[in-house]
Amino acid sequence: MHYDVVIAGGGFAGAYCAQTLGKLLGPGAEKRVALVAQRNVLVFQPMLAEVAGASLGPAAVVHPLRLMCRQVDVLQGSIHKIDWAARSISLDGGRFTRNHALTFDHLVLALGSVSDFSRVPGLTDHGRPMKSVADAIRLRATLINRLEEANLVGDPAQRDRLLTFVVVGGGYTGVETAGQVFDLLCGSMKFYANLRGLRPRVVLVHSHASLLAEIGPELGDHALGVLRRRGIEVRLNTRVAEVTASRVGFTSGDGLDAHTVISTIGNAPHPVVLDLCRQLGLETERGRVPTDDTMRVRGQTHLWSAGDCAAVPWNDRGTIKTSPPTAQIAQRQGRQLGQNLARTLAGEPLRPFRYRYLGQLATIGEHEAVAEVMGFRFSGFFAWWMWRSIYLAKLPGALRKLRVMIDWTFDLVFPRDLSLVLPPPEDVLRSIHLGRDEVLFERGVPSRAYFYVRKGEIRLDEPGQPVRLLGPGSVIDQAHVDEQGDWTVGATATDGADVIVLRGAAFELLRKDVRLVPDTGPIP
Ligand SMILES: Cc1cc2nc3c(=O)[nH]c(=O)nc-3n(C[C@H](O)[C@H](O)[C@H](O)COP(=O)(O)OP(=O)(O)OC[C@H]3O[C@@H](n4cnc5c(N)ncnc54)[C@H](O)[C@@H]3O)c2cc1C
Repeated sequence: MHYDVVIAGGGFAGAYCAQTLGKLLGPGAEKRVALVAQRNVLVFQPMLAEVAGASLGPAAVVHPLRLMCRQVDVLQGSIHKIDWAARSISLDGGRFTRNHALTFDHLVLALGSVSDFSRVPGLTDHGRPMKSVADAIRLRATLINRLEEANLVGDPAQRDRLLTFVVVGGGYTGVETAGQVFDLLCGSMKFYANLRGLRPRVVLVHSHASLLAEIGPELGDHALGVLRRRGIEVRLNTRVAEVTASRVGFTSGDGLDAHTVISTIGNAPHPVVLDLCRQLGLETERGRVPTDDTMRVRGQTHLWSAGDCAAVPWNDRGTIKTSPPTAQIAQRQGRQLGQNLARTLAGEPLRPFRYRYLGQLATIGEHEAVAEVMGFRFSGFFAWWMWRSIYLAKLPGALRKLRVMIDWTFDLVFPRDLSLVLPPPEDVLRSIHLGRDEVLFERGVPSRAYFYVRKGEIRLDEPGQPVRLLGPGSVIDQAHVDEQGDWTVGATATDGADVIVLRGAAFELLRKDVRLVPDTGPIP
C-alpha cells in the first residue's frame, strides 16, 4: 500500500496531525493519508492516574481514532522497522498480518517515548509502569489486591509491607499517581474489617530537590507541603538503587520494606526512532529527533516529527528553547504539523510552530491541585476545580465528556469502586496443532514466539543448508533468529505436528538472554 503521507503514532501529536490534515484535504481527497498506531484509540494520558485511583473508568480516558480522524486511513499495527532508503514501514498488525509493508512519500514521526527501567536493578521485574491504560487498570487491581491480602494477615511486619506503596519519580505522573493511590487506599480501608483505623503508607521518592520540575520550584514546593500535610511521605534527593519483591533500596544505603513499587521514571527514546536516526546519520537531542521550527526533520525534505519524540525549537516569550514533552504542546504541534503538511502538498510556504504558554496544572489528590495559569500561581480547591474543567473541555467527543462528568459526579458522592476486575492473565503458553505441510513460520519474518515440538516433525529450510527435521522434544528458539530478530529459517510441519508456543512476556524475557535447550538437530 502506498500513501502520500504516513503519520506514525496515534497519541496527541499524531492524532491531531491526522485530524487536521484530513480536514484540510477534505473528503475524497486525491492525496492518501494513513495514521498508524499500536492501538486504535487516543489515550488521554494526563487522566491515567484517575483510572489507577478508580475515580474514572478506563473507557473515559480513550477516544477512538476512527471517529476522530475520519478523513484518513487509520491502520492499527505496531511499527517494527522503518527503511528510509526504501521509504517503507514494516508493521505487525496481529496474528495473521505480522509483516505488513507500507510505502510513503512523506513520513511523520510521532511515536512518543518508551519506558526503560533497566538502569535500576530489579525495577523492570518489580516496578509497575504508569504509561498505558492497561498499566493503570493493573495498578488499580494491585492496590485492591494488596488491601485484600493485608486484611488476611496477622503479622504486623508483613501487613506493613503490604500497606507500603512507593512511587518513584516526582514529575506530573508521580505526583498525580501518589495522590490518587493515597485517596483510593484511605477511602477504602474502612471497608476492610481488619484494616479499620490503620493508614496506608504512600512514599513518593524523587531524585531532585523539588517536585514538579515541569511547573517550577514554587509550585513544586507548594505541592510538597500539601502532599506532606495529607500524610504522603516525600523523600527528595533520593535515588532508588535496587528493587526486589519486598524492598526498595536507595543509593544512600537505607531502604523501605514494600511489596508495591510504582515507577514513573525511565522515559527513553523510541527504538524505531533511534534506528531511523542511525540510518540518516542524524544525531538526536537527548534521544529526540531534531527538527526546524516547521517540524521538518533537520536536513530532510520528506520527514517530519512532533510531540515527545521530537526536539522542536520553541520561542517561549523571547527565549528559544526545545519544546517540553507535554500533552498540550504535543497536541498543538500535531495541529500545526497537519497544516504544514497540507501546505507542503499544495506547494505553499510553511509556518513555524508558535505556541503561547498558558500554564500548567497538576492534581495532588482529593480536591487539591496546583496551577500556574498566565503567570498566576495558585492551588487548593479552585485549582483542582479548574484542572477538572480544563481537562473535561479538552477531552475529544461529547460521549467521553459525558462519561467523565458522570464518573466524577459519582466520585464526589460514593466510595471508589473496589470490585476486582483483573485483566485475564496473559496466555504465554499455548498448544497448537499443525496439519500436513502447514507452515509454522516463514523465513525472514520477525520472531514473536519460540516453539517446542511435542508430536510429529517440523522441517527447517534454510538456503544453502541441508534440510533439518526436528522431532519431539526439539526446541526452535533464538539459534534460528538473526540480529534483527527475524527467523533465518522457514519452518513447516511435514506430516502434521503438535507444537507448544511460548510467547508474550515469557518470550520477551527469554529472547533477551536465555538460550533454551539445544535443539536435537537432524533426525537420523
Ligand atoms: C501517566 C501520564 C501522565 C501525564 N500527565 C500529563 C499532564 O498532566 N500534563 C501534560 O501536559 N502532560 C502529561 N503527560 C505527558 C503527555 O501525556 C505526553 O507529553 C504526550 O502524550 C505526548 O504526546 P505524543 O503524541 O508525543 O506521544 P504519545 O501520546 O505517547 O503517543 C505515542 C503514540 O505512538 C504509538 N506508538 C508507539 N510505538 C509505536 C509503534 N512501534 N508502532 C505504532 N505506534 C506506536 C502509541 O501507541 C501512541 O499512539 C503525562 C504522561 C503520562 C504517561
